Amino acid sequence: MEDTGQVLYVYRCPACQARGEVHLPGDTHDGEAACCRSCGGPVVLEWDGGVTLHVTPPIGDGSADS
Ligand SMILES: [Zn+2]
Repeated sequence: MEDTGQVLYVYRCPACQARGEVHLPGDTHDGEAACCRSCGGPVVLEWDGGVTLHVTPPIGDGSADS
């Protein structure tokens, strides 16, 4: 099968501070253990939000006091 539906997860290694990215199918891998690609140490995956890296300005919330 194709890799459609792959979700980007990121991690930062507590040992060597390396940042890594992992693509896994589905959005249920948040908090899962993985291995640092740099030093091989244990890291924890964090779901990267499942969105593209658009920079969107904050809209609405907080700007209208009533
Ligand atoms: Zn590492």
